[in-house]
Amino acid sequence: VIAVKEKSRQLRDGELEAEENLETFLERIKLDNERVNAFIDVYPGIAREAAKEVDKKLEEGTAGRLAGLVIGVKSNICVNGYSATCSSKTLENFISPYDAEVIRRIRKEDGILVGMTNMDEFACGSSGETGYFGRVLNPIRPNYICGGSSAGSAAAIAAGLCDLALGSDTGGSIRNPASHCSIVGVKPTYGLVPREGLIDLAMSLEQIGPLSADTYGTALLMESIAGPSERECTVIDKPNLNYTKYSESEPDRFTLATCKQLDQITDRNIERKVSSAVDRLASAYNADVVEVSLPNVENALSAYYPIVFVEFFSATRKFDGRRYGHKIEDACGPEVGRRIYLGGHISQKEVRGKYYESALKLRGVISEAYEAAFKKCDAIISPTVPKPPHKIGDSLDPLEMYAYDMLTIPANLAGICAGVVPSNGSYNPDSVGIQIQCNRLQESKMFSIMGGYERLLDNRLC
Ligand code: GLN
Repeated sequence: VIAVKEKSRQLRDGELEAEENLETFLERIKLDNERVNAFIDVYPGIAREAAKEVDKKLEEGTAGRLAGLVIGVKSNICVNGYSATCSSKTLENFISPYDAEVIRRIRKEDGILVGMTNMDEFACGSSGETGYFGRVLNPIRPNYICGGSSAGSAAAIAAGLCDLALGSDTGGSIRNPASHCSIVGVKPTYGLVPREGLIDLAMSLEQIGPLSADTYGTALLMESIAGPSERECTVIDKPNLNYTKYSESEPDRFTLATCKQLDQITDRNIERKVSSAVDRLASAYNADVVEVSLPNVENALSAYYPIVFVEFFSATRKFDGRRYGHKIEDACGPEVGRRIYLGGHISQKEVRGKYYESALKLRGVISEAYEAAFKKCDAIISPTVPKPPHKIGDSLDPLEMYAYDMLTIPANLAGICAGVVPSNGSYNPDSVGIQIQCNRLQESKMFSIMGGYERLLDNRLC
């Protein structure tokens, strides 16, 4: 596997054709996908047509910034004419009638959309095991779960089945599988990336974001999909989207923070790797390291889950089986059923105040804690998932499963950005995800620290 930047250069300089690049991936998908189960649906015919067009543009010198790169899309994002099943029987035959805004942007930049990736059903999960089309395998650690819910997107990158992938992150669904599969993943600031055409899990927390084997790849996909949309008034207008530049430039002098409340709930072995990453970054870039406190962050799950249940309950009311698909309650698996049931219960007037409104209050308190912390530092470095992935087939109770998200959920509650880079390099089973959390709209800083860390590794991709 070569780095995304080098691949892009080869395509631009005519050393590699888009069609050739696509064929290589289609071949690998044919060989490996059955085992990994990363893609639910692949569209070789449509992708080949697109690649042919891109090759013409590459020759004319008019191709966009994703020219010829092969991209997998999580199955909760609409791609016109492709399936969007959310890995649920509910939508097993659903074909998207239009493109999500992020997909329109990818097409404009000449990315090649190869297919739809597997996921936890309706993005409810952290292991990649709950989809109707079967569990996803971790290509880096066979026999172990690959994490979720953007399981197939992470596994497709880790198995070398595409260059880039889109995922969605409501409480960690990009960062958790990126960490387990030793690749890079980014959850953007809430409101930076359009959500039109995303089949929501929880609209007030969720963002579409990129996965790639390297930081440059995530920065490239981010700068292609982020930014204001005429069709969606809630998207933040952020003029400076030059993320690839930041991912490659020496980070400005910065202050890193560690946070005991996040570290102390983490497996010792994972915590050790994160703390050595902090030391490496600090000494290489002469950064200051401070300790910050995030009061109540250990209660993040108690804020997150009631909010998710209520918003998910509301989002699923349209899946009543009348106009298309199956009625969700009749077709879904146990986790989705549990969330609908609890969301319905919490939404009732007499209990709303007790759970939902308290959850919103706690969310506010956690956001304020981050605000205060970012007055003292530029980035908070922490682990991504508190424990290593479990073996496929081991059964976890729901609370154990929810506990995987303890370290990723706080960023969604606060609406800040967070990126994950593998501690010991991509594809390396010894890696754990180093989570770099920065304040709202501080993606540039985040990418420069992520790229800066990657450059310190001897085994980085080139
Ligand atoms: N695992 C978390 C949940 O089940 C996060 C899911 C997500 O980010 N989509 O809600």
